[in-house]
Amino acid sequence: MNKADMKVYRERLIALRARLRGDVDNLANATLKKSRSEANGDLSSMPIHMADIGSDNFEQEFSLSLMESEEGIIGRIEQAMERIEEGTYGQCEECGVRIPKARLNAIPYTTLCVKCAADSEQG
Ligand SMILES: [Zn+2]
Repeated sequence: MNKADMKVYRERLIALRARLRGDVDNLANATLKKSRSEANGDLSSMPIHMADIGSDNFEQEFSLSLMESEEGIIGRIEQAMERIEEGTYGQCEECGVRIPKARLNAIPYTTLCVKCAADSEQG
């Protein structure tokens, strides 16, 4: 992966982290305001939806990954950013193959190729 690509993914990671942090705040706020919002039918305090980040694929993968805590994902984003600094971003942590861009576009903070991710999910 060249430096220009790295820069693109770094910016995505930063944007994603900012959004997740915002969502964590929004969720906290939403919980606090919940009873009032429900009474008013006010949806403006709902967490920001993900539609504008990217593809359907991204959304699917992202919803799956939401089973992890947002803090956990933020940690992985920061790891990925360190890997960009080291120049190892985009390589599978497990087997060392290049992770396809389609996958990085879907989950920019992933550190495993599809095969290794599937293996680790199966235990
Ligand atoms: Zn792998």
